[in-house]
Amino acid sequence: MQITSKITKLQLKHPFKISRRETDPFRKTIFVEIDGGIGEASPAKFYGETVETVETALGFIASELDEDLDQIQKVMSKIESALEGNYAAKSAIDMALNDRLGKKLGIPLYKLWGLNPLNTPRTSFTIALDEPTVMAEKALAADMYPILKVKLGTQRDIEIMETLRNVTDKPIYVDANTAWPPDEAVQKIQQLKEFGVELIEQPTQPDDIAGLKFVRENSSLPIIADESVKRATDIPKLSEAVDGINIKLVKCGGLLEALRMIHLARANGLLVMIGCMIESSLGITAAAHLSPLVDYADLDGNLLIKNDPFSGVTLNTGKLMLPDRPGIGVVKT
Ligand code: MG
Repeated sequence: MQITSKITKLQLKHPFKISRRETDPFRKTIFVEIDGGIGEASPAKFYGETVETVETALGFIASELDEDLDQIQKVMSKIESALEGNYAAKSAIDMALNDRLGKKLGIPLYKLWGLNPLNTPRTSFTIALDEPTVMAEKALAADMYPILKVKLGTQRDIEIMETLRNVTDKPIYVDANTAWPPDEAVQKIQQLKEFGVELIEQPTQPDDIAGLKFVRENSSLPIIADESVKRATDIPKLSEAVDGINIKLVKCGGLLEALRMIHLARANGLLVMIGCMIESSLGITAAAHLSPLVDYADLDGNLLIKNDPFSGVTLNTGKLMLPDRPGIGVVKT
């Protein structure tokens, strides 16, 4: 399989801080091309990947595979059995193969999967951690986005929420990025509910499933797992511990695995969010094609960068508008 790849620096509009770290002023991503199909791997160090590990994985995958590229299920299964982990790299391959097939058939991805593009949700827009007044300024500046996702997980969470509520009455999702011990989570969620917060993402440590279950049983807001759930195999053990899962292509290894996860989550009675990393409109638009199947979308990674090499999905008062072009449907900017 001939794979070409290119590393690109995505420049951030603002530093992006969450509870466990602050990012550099840029984020490296890697674009791949396979027989006219394109994909993006936006590797996350938290999941053990960098652009360098992605390049190595792509080299291995290219040397291993000589398959009919139309048979994406078969190609991806073969890659999965030949190479552990490396899900951002696998996601880029899966994306490129789906893009290639859509282009070959002349239809957009949502149509390939039989989805209604009118059923897309509105995306939330993320306010990263900062001084409370700075977060409030960013919330004010986000006037074109109808739903905010606020990063918390500090000693000042309630102060932040008070400051935000002085400037906005929009629906707010909260993401603690694993920062709260279970007891503290229960207490904070009770207070956050008073501020009209609608859901809580990943309150506790990723492996603390009992902690998540404790929080869920003692809270009245939906609890959504993110860091605790990477692939479909993680879902059964979470079905009693959370109300929903956040699926990201770079965690799970691509669109086909994401589709499996959505169906498995539904079979387990779970809500589904589709999320992202900081990535270009290529990765975001690929994920957006799945969004007619989900309850919540947090697809704002492309909105946080200032040198997006692609344009694709657009927003209409926050609602994801899918491009009608074949494949993923992005064009170079
Ligand atoms: Mg999250």
